[in-house]
Amino acid sequence: KAFEELGLCTQLAEAAANLGWKTPSVIQQQAVPPLLQGSDVIGLAQTGSGKTGAFALPILQELMDKPQELFALVLSPTRELAIQIAEQFEALGSGIGLKTAVLVGGIDMMAQAIALARRPHVVVGTPGRVVDHLSNTKGFSMRSLRHLVLDEADKLLDMDFEQEIDQILKVIPRERRTQLFSATMTNKVQKLQRACLVNPVKVEV
Ligand code: AMP
Repeated sequence: KAFEELGLCTQLAEAAANLGWKTPSVIQQQAVPPLLQGSDVIGLAQTGSGKTGAFALPILQELMDKPQELFALVLSPTRELAIQIAEQFEALGSGIGLKTAVLVGGIDMMAQAIALARRPHVVVGTPGRVVDHLSNTKGFSMRSLRHLVLDEADKLLDMDFEQEIDQILKVIPRERRTQLFSATMTNKVQKLQRACLVNPVKVEV
């Protein structure tokens, strides 16, 4: 199957081709159509499956139709993963002037606050640092958010980010789409799923 056959526009299909992605990966084939239809998705997938493209492409397609600041938040368990996710968003969204901000620990809060002041479309971060910015950075709110992605949810919970995730859930709109990706389905992940997702479509590779 080609990217266009999943419902993605030609510009995004070309952006994927420019990254050397010839055909959609299995998780992309399964997750993109329900996401474009507006469903919440829970994806059981490992790193390397192409899950980042699976959650990024439908978000980018919506942004192309209607550009909106602070449109999507992606929570990642580690800095390295957060940076990789932002890089994939930027590579896929380079043709549409996509702006991202990465909020992770170990990097100056001020530089990140400046990135937020530029009103990024997509914010990628680790839960602790996102909470720090929500309480410390003037003018940063998540009230316009339409998409939440919980990436590597099993690791997010292993790293005890539950409290921070709860804090974030309290300040983002209920009316939103949520995607949860995890390598394993543990009891804790199921609990998080019930707290965050509405009638999710389950995809598994
Ligand atoms: P991920 O599982 O999202 O961390 O992606 C793992 C790697 O696969 C990244 O280097 C992506 O650039 C690459 N990738 C993602 N989707 C595709 C695709 N459809 N075809 C080829 N490579 C891909």
